[in-house]
Amino acid sequence: MNQSNFSVAIIGAGIGGLALAVLLKEQGLEVQVYEQAEAFARVGAGIQMAPNAMKVLRALGLESELKTLGFCSPRALSRVWDSAALSSELPLGAAVEKQYGAPYLFLHRADLHTAIASRVPSGVIQMRHKLQAMELLSKGVALSFANGRRVVADCVVGADGVHSWVREWMLGAQPAQFTGKVAYRTTFPASLLPADQVPKERTKWWGPDRHVVVYPVTAKRDEIYFVTSQPEEAHWLTAESWSAKGDIEALKKSFVGFHPDLQAILHAAPQVHKWALFERAPLSQWSRGAVTLLGDACHPMPPYMAQGAACALEDAMVLSRCLQNASVQTLEANLMRYEATRKPRTTQIQTQSSRNTWLKGETDPTWVYAYDALSTPLVSR
Ligand SMILES: Cc1cc2nc3c(=O)[nH]c(=O)nc-3n(C[C@H](O)[C@H](O)[C@H](O)COP(=O)(O)OP(=O)(O)OC[C@H]3O[C@@H](n4cnc5c(N)ncnc54)[C@H](O)[C@@H]3O)c2cc1C
Repeated sequence: MNQSNFSVAIIGAGIGGLALAVLLKEQGLEVQVYEQAEAFARVGAGIQMAPNAMKVLRALGLESELKTLGFCSPRALSRVWDSAALSSELPLGAAVEKQYGAPYLFLHRADLHTAIASRVPSGVIQMRHKLQAMELLSKGVALSFANGRRVVADCVVGADGVHSWVREWMLGAQPAQFTGKVAYRTTFPASLLPADQVPKERTKWWGPDRHVVVYPVTAKRDEIYFVTSQPEEAHWLTAESWSAKGDIEALKKSFVGFHPDLQAILHAAPQVHKWALFERAPLSQWSRGAVTLLGDACHPMPPYMAQGAACALEDAMVLSRCLQNASVQTLEANLMRYEATRKPRTTQIQTQSSRNTWLKGETDPTWVYAYDALSTPLVSR
């Protein structure tokens, strides 16, 4: 239990912000999460939780629930786009759990988000609170929201995603870079596929300039997910929207020539959404005074290692450890410690993700999966 009672305002109720809220509440801190959305939506998307992420989810008390919800793929396969030849094969399932001390799960993103949200005590999440102004006071930080509300907190964490308002306040307007790639993604009932074509393993189909990742998102394999990455101009991109309804026919056209097993999956999907993929070079700083950043707000990356949310969870765990026994007087130093501990790792993962070569050929994933945010040494600057 944290002896000092300072207040923390978390901006953004995504995976990172909510995980941090659970951990800080457990330490006895006064925490509020401010989220701009009116409600959480169930968007058709899957998410991979590698062992490094699962260790944090275990600390949130969610491991057994997620194991009953999610799919545990025996292997991660990479296949050549047209011939289906295997270019790499990584054992997952029991082997990965034995090696890294935690499972590798494939989940519906909404199931994961709902599970984390269920661990946040009631009254902590404030929906319809879009942060639009912030001011450092001699004591605390003043926050103003679009709904007219104004609050003061001792510490602020910007967990507000790739287009982070808090990052812009801290470092100035520098939009994240559009990679020139768009991800089409959807989930759909496995019953729309012939039984023998329902995927049994996570498979990435590698084309020359595009790819598709396919996996079930439920333990029963009754819901299938795919996500693509393909070059596309994003005329529909605006400051407010970086996702849109996708054109299923355009999607099918862009994968003509891919192996029939993959085409069958793309053709079974009734609809798709599309996301513009962004990245950003590592930031010069994550913190200013008692304000810091977490997750995509400070290290957005293309999803090619399936590690963005995992990094947000690791951030949450390390930040909560750095805030243990902190006080208002030491907050700034504690936040520096968090940044110094996390930045080398997230920079390495951002750099590797950008290359889009992860698991394409034989790869040793130990440096990613073996990381334990609960015990990694905290660096002092
Ligand atoms: C196609 C795709 C596939 C991916 N697959 C994986 C995967 O398999 N595994 C993995 O680990 N990662 C994956 N990722 C990455 C992962 O989705 C992100 O890294 C993760 O969601 C980041 O979490 P976050 O909490 O930092 O931000 P977000 O989830 O973006 O949450 C930010 C929240 O802040 C809110 N917000 C924003 N601005 C304000 C404001 N001004 N005031 C109040 N609230 C605000 C938003 O509404 C949102 O709820 C994938 C990403 C993409 C695009």
